[in-house]
Amino acid sequence: MKVHEYQAKEILDQYGVAVQRGIVADTVEEAVEAAQTMAADGVTQFVVKAQIHAGGRGKGGGVKFCPSIDDVKPAAEKILGMQLITPQTGAEGQLVRKVLVTAAEDIAHEYYLGVTLDRATGMDVIMASTEGGVEIEEVAEATPEKIVKVHVDPTTGLRSYQAREIAFQLGLEGTAFKEGVKFVMALYKAYRASDATIAEINPLVKTEDGRIIALDAKMDLDDNAMFRHKDLAEMRDEAEEDPLEVEAGKHNLNYIKLDGNVGCMVNGAGLAMGTMDLIKLAGGEPANFLDVGGTASPATTEAGFRIIQSDPNVKAILVNIFGGIVRCDRVAKGVVEAASNMELTVPLIVRLQGTNAEEGMQILKDSGLPIQTAIRLQEAADKVTAALDA
Ligand code: ADP
Ligand code: MG
Repeated sequence: MKVHEYQAKEILDQYGVAVQRGIVADTVEEAVEAAQTMAADGVTQFVVKAQIHAGGRGKGGGVKFCPSIDDVKPAAEKILGMQLITPQTGAEGQLVRKVLVTAAEDIAHEYYLGVTLDRATGMDVIMASTEGGVEIEEVAEATPEKIVKVHVDPTTGLRSYQAREIAFQLGLEGTAFKEGVKFVMALYKAYRASDATIAEINPLVKTEDGRIIALDAKMDLDDNAMFRHKDLAEMRDEAEEDPLEVEAGKHNLNYIKLDGNVGCMVNGAGLAMGTMDLIKLAGGEPANFLDVGGTASPATTEAGFRIIQSDPNVKAILVNIFGGIVRCDRVAKGVVEAASNMELTVPLIVRLQGTNAEEGMQILKDSGLPIQTAIRLQEAADKVTAALDA
């Protein structure tokens, strides 16, 4: 689960991470009020920042420096409601519904600091670089030696000597060194305690007056852990997510929208991946990944069909079910019930294999519905391709 920059900063703040917070606003008026509130505390220069679930906002025109308070209004007017395109949004961009008004800092240097799980070692890894502010992927590609990596042993947790090592490698000295060490320790604590999968600060800055502070913050939180973080779970912003994926989540379907024309509904993630490969091999393009899980009940099947069909690119649907624990005849009943309850607007090909496959096929045939059936994968693929061409 992704959260906005302002929310990530709120979480980090609770763990003592030094962040540049600011005030979030939904309207231009609120943005101006926010600046006035901050001006009362002595802030004279501001930065207005688009809040969307994607990075690279600066490059796309979503981060505006305001040399005086009078510049806040036009900046907020420009950013709020814009369709912000960044390297992470895709070509159509993302509508900006909120801005964060922050104090502008005098930056002496921009660093990068991030924590995530390194699956290869099974340990959390803290990555740091003196090359902050730019995309870390580019640094990793061009100058990998400029990224320092420190692994955290899960049995001991992050040791303070490791945090000192990172601060040292970043070239921090004096007070900045001390603040850097504290920052690393606090960031790791926040990452662990909030069950984050990523906590990334880019840029972490040293200000002209020597403070170490996060100007940007990105956090991804583990969906599977949100049951034990009610406060964090409430930070979910469904407006930022794909509406079909949100709908699928409500039915416990694992759905990811893709760009192709063949909708697929499969039980099991591995079979779903295999089915997508097969569709491609047969000349089609998968329109989605959809794993209906271990049980394909009439209700989930119908929800799946509706979600797949609401994608206008879908020209045919392939249902590929392997009856292991789930019986194919029950799945067939579910498909028939779902298909009779709604209007199927594209050809439907159902491939059943495994427990009670024959009985399942019979149910589909007897239904009188325009459902094409297949037992073998190749047969299913051929029927899908033929349906696309028809
Ligand atoms: P993104 O990563 O989405 O582009 P950032 O928050 O990292 O957005 O902002 C981009 C750049 O804008 C930063 O690298 C920094 O140089 C500048 N910036 C952001 N916030 C501030 C601020 N409060 N004061 C001064 N400069 C800022
Ligand atoms: Mg950034």
